[in-house]
Amino acid sequence: MITKTICLIIDGLRSECLCSTNGRKMLFPNLDKIIKHGAVYPATSNAQSTQFVMPSIFCQNYPLDYGGYSDGIVHRPVSYIELVHKAGYETQMISSCNQLGVASGYSRGFDKIKATIDFRVILEQNISRNLAHYFNELKNLNLNVRDKENIEKELLDDYKKLLRAFIDTIHDTDTSVWGKKLAYYNHLVSNQSQHELTLIDTNKELILKRLSSIPAGVYWYALGKKRIPMILFFLLRLKVGITWRWRKHTRNMPILLSHWVSVSSEIFQELINELKNSEKIKKQHFHLHVMDVHDCISFNRIFIKIYHFKFFPKWIYAKLHGFTDRRLLYDLSLMYVDEKIGDLMNALEDKQLTDKTAIVISGDHGSSYAESPRNYKHVYFRTYYEDISIPIVAYNCNKNISTVPGKLRDSMSITATLLDFMKILPDKSFLGMGITNSNSNDR
Ligand SMILES: [Zn+2]
Repeated sequence: MITKTICLIIDGLRSECLCSTNGRKMLFPNLDKIIKHGAVYPATSNAQSTQFVMPSIFCQNYPLDYGGYSDGIVHRPVSYIELVHKAGYETQMISSCNQLGVASGYSRGFDKIKATIDFRVILEQNISRNLAHYFNELKNLNLNVRDKENIEKELLDDYKKLLRAFIDTIHDTDTSVWGKKLAYYNHLVSNQSQHELTLIDTNKELILKRLSSIPAGVYWYALGKKRIPMILFFLLRLKVGITWRWRKHTRNMPILLSHWVSVSSEIFQELINELKNSEKIKKQHFHLHVMDVHDCISFNRIFIKIYHFKFFPKWIYAKLHGFTDRRLLYDLSLMYVDEKIGDLMNALEDKQLTDKTAIVISGDHGSSYAESPRNYKHVYFRTYYEDISIPIVAYNCNKNISTVPGKLRDSMSITATLLDFMKILPDKSFLGMGITNSNSNDR
């Protein structure tokens, strides 16, 4: 009987890494073993970027449904985690994905959350994506005073929600997974959020001016400060400016000074620790999200990157023999994740849980960096296979995997497959079709 279920999202996982047998056994032996005891199905991502596609994975509806993806899943009827929780499972999120971060609704239904999210990145993304929309509206010269006031109010209400979420998240999240550096910055942002809220109440013009003029990537430094120390602020802007230009002009070159990058060894170690202490818990579901592959060109965890090069001889052999046409850094990162999946499978065996655990593995979207016949494209032009083809791997499901050709399966199929294994009825708002043969209304 299945008592543990795991949904693993490997950010940026391309379809052909697992759907093609060419080189899979050599480069990703643990994933190959899982597929041999289960199945892999080629699917199409519902969107080409993490933020857009996460609602489809969690709530099985389209990215633009229920008011779109800007607020995560806040306005969607129900998340698959809530259904799993209702079915009597203890639910845990272990993740390094910033998009699952604060004020986005993804925490719904989880008993425990261990997420290595960087509050500075969440603040940056909120200002540059969410609040920028209001500032664009404010540029309209035909606005009357009342319209302008209404837009400013909506903008500040949204911003306050985010600031309060930074303050609350520190208290209701398991922060033990945060490294020293991440904990320092997240506590700083959380503390300063309280001061920023006070500033909004006493001098909202100052905050509106700052939000529209300070680059989003360095706003965290100005957060809640009455006066900004100019020399340190200038140096920080210089550093962020250099990194930004480096990224913009050298799309495929390694980055040294990027955001905090969590690595999958930390995520899988947390999961293994949880499994070791879970004898008394009858049914458990884990939602995992690892960023290693998506962040494969970030070098700020330099020792981990050096460690990746232990796979280099194997990779160069595969490259010379035509087993991979992907770039080195991409494959090395996936080989590292594969090694950690091997550690997880060993831990399951040690605990005699192998036959009691069902696993679904997939990606949120592909990666053009890995190999693409086209140049790097802005997000709204990413509609080719390299950005939207994903694999769905199912392991230990005791069901036949559909082999009917031509059936379109998408990001919603990831959790639809999982609910199908768990015999949990989907909500009426769910549109996903699983990859097993048991779908009565197959289409
Ligand atoms: Zn992603």
